Amino acid sequence: MKIFLPIAVLALLLSSLQPSVIASESNASTAFDGPYLFDKAKHQTKAQAYWVCAGALLTTPVTDKQLTRPNDCGQLPEPVLNPTAKNISDHTYTGVSKIVALSDVHGQYDVLITLLKNQKIIDKDNNWAFGNGHMVMTGDMFDRGHQVNEVLWFMYKLDKQAQDAGGKLHLLMGNHEQMVMRGDLRYVNERYQVAEKLLNRSYDELYDSSSEIGQWLRSKHTIVKINDSLFLHGGISGEWVDRKLTLDKANQVYRANIDKSKPEIKNDELLNFLFLGNGPTWFRGYFEDDYHESEIDRVLAYFNVKHIVVGHTSQTQVLGLFNNKVLAVDSSIKNGESGELLLITPDESSKDTLTRGLYDGSRVSL
Ligand code: ZN
Repeated sequence: MKIFLPIAVLALLLSSLQPSVIASESNASTAFDGPYLFDKAKHQTKAQAYWVCAGALLTTPVTDKQLTRPNDCGQLPEPVLNPTAKNISDHTYTGVSKIVALSDVHGQYDVLITLLKNQKIIDKDNNWAFGNGHMVMTGDMFDRGHQVNEVLWFMYKLDKQAQDAGGKLHLLMGNHEQMVMRGDLRYVNERYQVAEKLLNRSYDELYDSSSEIGQWLRSKHTIVKINDSLFLHGGISGEWVDRKLTLDKANQVYRANIDKSKPEIKNDELLNFLFLGNGPTWFRGYFEDDYHESEIDRVLAYFNVKHIVVGHTSQTQVLGLFNNKVLAVDSSIKNGESGELLLITPDESSKDTLTRGLYDGSRVSL
């Protein structure tokens, strides 16, 4: 006698047979993952999109601008491909009417969507609703959480929608983007062992320079200046000023070396500063007791800005330090419970109004 099982039950059964893979995930949706999209390989006539559907690997040929997921493959994103998202943007902007900044999402897609929706940065269908405003994500989308790929494809979509609306998305590289790209995989969520195994690629190879998301990320800056604010992941130390580095140079060096191994980085004096230690994606000095306001004044003067907006060092809320010269936007979204964002709106006298956007949609002046 044959027994027919619905596919969802089968998926659950399969996942329960693989405790090392799905161990901490009670949600059956983790048996679905993707898409992962790579350039056409030599033996292929068309590029392939890879999907993990109920624990099995399926491929679809990329024949159109929009990817279509296979039948019965959960709610995986069906991205519209956008080659212009890989163009390198300017690193300095003036006259921007409104800015929203947030950080350190670490794969917490549901929290990200709820926060952006409640704050009306996106609409009820998850589409850009911030008009000609600029949104800055100051790094660390990767690692820890279990919905990294969802976050990446969502941001990929917003990149185009913001541009089309006359706004802009700035996706800045954090230390976790850098770690993944150089193959430091200590913080990758165990969910992704399934895709690694089925695609026969290590996690960093899922996002290497042959992948659509990898190419898109490799086109992005690490530091941008918008109006009177500088945005980056960790912070600018006095060492940057001593070195007389420029945004242009640093962003170029970051892009050109993001795939270098740790020994290669350590062997190069400038790369060692930029990628490790007191560099912009790791620095936590602003949050240390012995840090003096005069040091931040020196950095602000060097860049001719009023604020430095940073993530990386987790807080319980969006926080202003040193009379709001430092604005800390890592509001611990990584815990998967809630989060905040920062809104910056310049008025006519070019004095910035700084506002915390809370998880429930309310707003509080900083
Ligand atoms: Zn970080």
